Amino acid sequence: MTLRGFTAKRVATCDPARGSLEDAAVVLDGSHIAYVGPRAGAPPGAALVDVGDRVVTPGLVDAHTHACWVGSRHAEYAVRMAGGDYRDIATAGGGILSSYRAVAAATEGALTEALVGRLRRMATLGVTTVEVKSGYGLEPEHERKQLAAIARAAASLDVPAVVPTFLALHALPPGVDRAAYVAHVAEVLVPQVAREARARFVDAYVDANAFTVAEARAVGEAARAHGLGVRLHVGQFADIGGAELAAELGAASVDHVEHISPAGIDALARAGVAAVLLPVASFTLGQPPPPVAALLDAGVSLVVASDANPGTAPTESLPLALALAVRAYGMTPDEALLAATRHAAASLGLSDRGVLRAGARADLVVWDLPHEHAIVQPWGVARAYAVTVAGVDVVSPR
Ligand SMILES: [Zn+2]
Repeated sequence: MTLRGFTAKRVATCDPARGSLEDAAVVLDGSHIAYVGPRAGAPPGAALVDVGDRVVTPGLVDAHTHACWVGSRHAEYAVRMAGGDYRDIATAGGGILSSYRAVAAATEGALTEALVGRLRRMATLGVTTVEVKSGYGLEPEHERKQLAAIARAAASLDVPAVVPTFLALHALPPGVDRAAYVAHVAEVLVPQVAREARARFVDAYVDANAFTVAEARAVGEAARAHGLGVRLHVGQFADIGGAELAAELGAASVDHVEHISPAGIDALARAGVAAVLLPVASFTLGQPPPPVAALLDAGVSLVVASDANPGTAPTESLPLALALAVRAYGMTPDEALLAATRHAAASLGLSDRGVLRAGARADLVVWDLPHEHAIVQPWGVARAYAVTVAGVDVVSPR
């Protein structure tokens, strides 16, 4: 295999042992990184492209998306912006149930095509790994169709790596018995999804007007018993004890946490559960931020994700989420970058990416920007100059 790579004015490794390097080289050997360090130390014979004053970072990792959807929710968005309440819209059959109807009516092929398009656009923004949840199928056959579409999209070339999550409890489909639905999900669907290796994680929406701690516990325990990880939507609208449940289950993450108690934060810190912050959603809903300083003080690992979905986070842009994490949540640009690289990868159980170091996957971005702190500034435009996923160029230098 021919060694190839880049030399650049600046390389932000996101490796705690290295930090950022000036006048450095990143050398790839196929799908992995062979060398990160001073230009002069690069292996002889490597074909190196000099990208000048641009900065190189690890590829971004989007650890929370609902990117497998079809349809459009522009009508309810206008209602919501005019003062309609998200929960009232949901009660009236909008929100998640609106996407459910579109996904239920769609073929697996149509879902796959929509997701592949979104993943390709995410790659142009510098994203090289994307967690994708099911959760709009709601009924078993449509959840399984959505997971099959996610698997097909993941097998496409020229898209980011995909981590599939079975969002087992998102909303109740119309006309089902609540207790029977939860029991079927926990006792039948979770084991089936595990057996078919359709997901690495199981997720549940633990909130007022969503699912209770007891319901999420049943599904989370089933996930753990069948070898799957757990991620939970927690405290978006109210704190009902989801953080404590996540700690009890040994979950990988709690996501949202606009509402979380000091005891919940302690429980996360003690159990090593990451907090995935979703600033696009709280911006769209006009909510105050989660307690970022208290989470940091407690030593909870912070992740920032796009939450890409057709309702509360109408974007595909992780860089936009990072911009809002800095502007609205008070995170520093360095905290935001780690939250979308090393910390995000760790929350997905992926130790082979999110850093630039020898032996890691060759997932990287050359930004058309001079410094990693600039990633949170040019809002709403794609500034990735080159993007490589496992050694494959998905965005090539112009
Ligand atoms: Zn979500």
